[in-house]
Amino acid sequence: AVVAGPAEWNGVGTTSDGHRVKVLGNVGSPADARAAADAGAEGVGLFRTEFCYLDAPSEPSVDEQRAAYAAVLAPFAGKQVIVRTLDAGADKPLAFLSPEEEPNPALGVRGLRVAFDRRDVLDRQLEAIAGAAAESGAEVSVMAPMVATAEEAAWFAERVRAAGIARAGVMIEIPAAALSAREILEAVDFVSIGTNDLAQYTFAADRQLGAVAKLNDPWQPALLRLIKLVGDAGRATGKAVGVCGEAAADPLLARVLTGLGVTSLSMNAAAIRVVGAGLAATTLAQCEAAAAAALAAPDPAAAREGAREN
Ligand code: PEP
Ligand code: MG
Repeated sequence: AVVAGPAEWNGVGTTSDGHRVKVLGNVGSPADARAAADAGAEGVGLFRTEFCYLDAPSEPSVDEQRAAYAAVLAPFAGKQVIVRTLDAGADKPLAFLSPEEEPNPALGVRGLRVAFDRRDVLDRQLEAIAGAAAESGAEVSVMAPMVATAEEAAWFAERVRAAGIARAGVMIEIPAAALSAREILEAVDFVSIGTNDLAQYTFAADRQLGAVAKLNDPWQPALLRLIKLVGDAGRATGKAVGVCGEAAADPLLARVLTGLGVTSLSMNAAAIRVVGAGLAATTLAQCEAAAAAALAAPDPAAAREGAREN
């Protein structure tokens, strides 16, 4: 199939035969949010809140956080926005939440793991998010980064609901979480696959290291097989499965992900129109055939080629 040009994107993500796949934006600032809204994003699939604080020497107050989040939510009144709680550590260190020196920061106390010892920080952030949601009128859900087990997912969902936020989800970024997708989905309302970290941890290949970038290719069949497990669990439980890593921004891979059971795709603003148009130019059956070909391929190049032929 030929990937359609941007002109054919009408702002509602569907295949040509009407299978719905939401096309959402990844944002980290008010400027990103405006760019995503201008590009026609149906909502936000990943708001990286730590981007508001990369230079902050100390934890911002609840009021400061609420104002920062409300500024990002503003263009999305009445629309779905998934706010991610702080993903501090490894490639995104925060001065006020830095863990002790660790030999392997990517495998250390990062993401949700920070919150187990600092519940106070999580609870203040949730309070600020709930306030910003009310102020902006956006339909806000909250999700946690770097979740490994269903027990962690359940712990997080309980704290989110205690903060008065209706929908709680988690990211699937660790292979163990993909393998436990069914149990995790039973504990939360939705999941979103972070393909950048899921690739890094699947291939034991640092996402920041050029020397191993070949392993971190989102077309790797082993990565697609893990994503399929999550898509299957989503179908079995009737819950939403998003992708918010870079993989979602590739129009051909977006078809494969749709065929694997993914129900929303979240990406940088520049990719929204081309991914939306690509979906509109294909049927669900073609997406499923592309997914089957990519899954069965021996390597990333063959996966891409197999998908392109469908
Ligand atoms: C990911 O890991 O794919 C993801 C979306 O999160 P981040 O890139 O912020 O780690
Ligand atoms: Mg990540």
